[in-house]
Amino acid sequence: MDLAAFRAALDGWLDEHQGELTPDPGTTGTLDAQMDHLAMVKRRTYDAGWMRWGWPERVGGLGGSTLLRAYLGEALTSRDLVEPGIYSMTEVLAPTMIDYAAPALAATMVPRLLRGDETWCQGFSEPGTGSNLAALSCRATRGDGVWRVTGQKVWTSLAQYAQRCLLLTRTGTPESAHKGITALFVDMDSPGIEVRPIETMHGAPEFSEVFFDDVAVPLGRTLGAEGGGWSVAMDLLPYERSTALWHRAAYLHRRLQVLLDTVRADALDPTAVGEVAQLLYALRARSRATQHRLASGGHLGPETSVDKVLLATAEQAVFDLVADGLGSEVAAGDDRTSDRWRRGYLYSRAATIYGGTAEIQRNIIARRLLDLGADR
Ligand SMILES: Cc1cc2nc3c(=O)[nH]c(=O)nc-3n(C[C@H](O)[C@H](O)[C@H](O)COP(=O)(O)OP(=O)(O)OC[C@H]3O[C@@H](n4cnc5c(N)ncnc54)[C@H](O)[C@@H]3O)c2cc1C
Repeated sequence: MDLAAFRAALDGWLDEHQGELTPDPGTTGTLDAQMDHLAMVKRRTYDAGWMRWGWPERVGGLGGSTLLRAYLGEALTSRDLVEPGIYSMTEVLAPTMIDYAAPALAATMVPRLLRGDETWCQGFSEPGTGSNLAALSCRATRGDGVWRVTGQKVWTSLAQYAQRCLLLTRTGTPESAHKGITALFVDMDSPGIEVRPIETMHGAPEFSEVFFDDVAVPLGRTLGAEGGGWSVAMDLLPYERSTALWHRAAYLHRRLQVLLDTVRADALDPTAVGEVAQLLYALRARSRATQHRLASGGHLGPETSVDKVLLATAEQAVFDLVADGLGSEVAAGDDRTSDRWRRGYLYSRAATIYGGTAEIQRNIIARRLLDLGADR
């Protein structure tokens, strides 16, 4: 199916089913409710075929361009049917499984994620190891046909809901840096795993500490080669900055529209509105090029750091405008609408941290795109 036909058919289907897919306004506040609702939307869109377009047939997809996935997420976020952060995790984790898991494992697991039957999480960051990922220390050692994993992860989004985790472990010596890392696909109900949710400043326990105490992981769950986990990570991170960012840009566009429909015309400085619109436009233009590169089979790499810088800048600018226009409601309003604006504002502060901080993105741009040399 081509993009124009997909858009027309999907829009028609969403018009017809909008009511059934819209979150219940009485329950939208909690993360539990959002996760239940997301699973329902994914199941409905998968069973109707939409969620399967743009994914390879070998993992239960219907084939076609990745642009179809970009549009599906855009349509769902623009209609307020899903929260982009939790929806777009699929765009980060499923492509990595397809690229690196044994084919039979990917064929079994990916459809479960696409259909919303399962949630997966990404276990990269550790206490003391976020930007400096190559220093991670969560240890995996071989024994009796399994890896035995011991260590800790932190800031693991949605870990308390996840059935599986894409985990980076240290399999080389402590000094082996990026050469001694192996990626594993771990069942979260394995004995020895403990998940302790952490509340974010916007009030949701969206990420967790995850502790591993001698957890057995079958060798067949190794993603890529032993010692090849750095390549897995370097290929996964650009996915955080491609289709997922297109979805997020659509969400920001929608929030700006809602703001402009909500506030009195004189409550906002027109120049500030114009600047925010310009940032969003630049983000979409840049991300559109990335979507097309992905769709034409191009390999995504450090150039996606530009997309991430634009996203973080635009997201914070949109919500700064929200704070200007709706100040007291955002700060202190008690109703659900105020709460949503407040959560959006507080979450926007994380945009310069998650998926690699703004400083790290600029380092990547300087060194790997502009060849400006290494740390001194
Ligand atoms: C909402 C949210 C969701 C997240 N979800 C996940 C997840 O699902 N899985 C996961 O593994 N992680 C997740 N993270 C963690 C995220 O990847 C890390 O927070 C991020 O990589 C930064 O690492 P850190 O927190 O250890 O900060 P640090 O690396 O300690 O950085 C602290 C500060 O120092 C700066 N800094 C560090 N090194 C340099 C340098 N070389 N040059 C210049 N400045 C530098 C940073 O920019 C930052 O300002 C999430 C984070 C957030 C906020």
